[in-house]
Amino acid sequence: MEAAVAVSHGRPPVASAGGFRAVRLGKDAKGATTAEVATLDNGELPPGNVVVRIAYSTLNYKDALAITGQSPVVRKFPMVPGIDFAGTVEHSADARYQVGDRVLLNGWGVGETHWGGLAQRACVRADWLVPLPASMSERSAMCIGTAGYTAMLSVMALEARGIAPEAGVILVTGANGGVGSIAIALLSRLGYAVTASTGRLEEAPRLKALGATCVMDRRVLGEPGKPLQKEAWAGAIDCVGSHTLANVLAGIRYGGAVAACGLAQGMELAGSVAPFILRGVALEGVDSVHASFARRTVAWARLARELPGEVVEANTREISLVQALVVAPELLRGQVRGRVVVDVNR
Ligand code: NDP
Repeated sequence: MEAAVAVSHGRPPVASAGGFRAVRLGKDAKGATTAEVATLDNGELPPGNVVVRIAYSTLNYKDALAITGQSPVVRKFPMVPGIDFAGTVEHSADARYQVGDRVLLNGWGVGETHWGGLAQRACVRADWLVPLPASMSERSAMCIGTAGYTAMLSVMALEARGIAPEAGVILVTGANGGVGSIAIALLSRLGYAVTASTGRLEEAPRLKALGATCVMDRRVLGEPGKPLQKEAWAGAIDCVGSHTLANVLAGIRYGGAVAACGLAQGMELAGSVAPFILRGVALEGVDSVHASFARRTVAWARLARELPGEVVEANTREISLVQALVVAPELLRGQVRGRVVVDVNR
């Protein structure tokens, strides 16, 4: 820790001289969201007790919503979006982190209410950081990103319900997305048989290469269905919500469980209680934003151990800060496969 940075939760512990490039979101006269890459001054950084020089961030579903203004995820303007990042501690006023430590961050409202990761520099609370696993590069961590970390939390939720590989097939919805693709890779490496539900059947070879044993058309699940259906899956990781989640619940075997983490189809859930009271099915909510430090470190340690680097690389496309503005609407249109990592220094 440097002597000159003994600041805690006040102004950023960094000299105000100098600047950094970042995606900056604002509002125009009509109230529409504007997005640009700008050079911001260090003195503008929000309060926090650790300053991180960011190496990589990513483009998550929530970041795309923030950049396009399609959903009110950003609560304060101007805002730097980016719900996750990995980098190196530049200044620290917290004894847990020293200059040069490699760290990562997911959630905590960063990129929504506090300036986030689509920038070369961030000032955050030490409580929000996680030490980067020793075997993981900053780039690999962000190839996994919040989506992959959420996939791991979802796998852990099924395991906590006792859903073992012998129990039967696990369904993953939103299979081509960031969460879905990494969930498939993780489950298959843990020995589960996985069915991938997708709207892009032409991507079946890629999903099978990730580890899916079977690929199904998402339209089968996308419309209102019967409250109880054929018992097809021992468990599911659902990234989609809405009618899909209701149909998934209706098709879970007796005693099975669903980890619900997403809303790509919609936020509503118009199902029935039949799967819960007649088949003892469990619905597990998965939240990555406020998960405890203990759960985060377990999840990241497992990601470092259980997800081969080549699988992560093959599932990732790298873009620059400026390209993030272009790719955001593509992601919301469902045109992006797997993960998008952002090199914030190009
Ligand atoms: P992506 O955009 O990468 O993937 C979403 C996938 O969902 C798409 O690739 C597509 O898969 C499918 N999809 C898109 N639109 C629809 C639709 N209308 N109906 C059915 N399926 C659709 O997003 P992520 O994987 O990063 O995130 C997935 C979800 O999880 C999002 O809703 C996100 O907000 C949520 N999330 C939640 C977190 C938490 O803490 N709970 C953390 C991170 C993400 P395909 O083409 O294969 O059909």
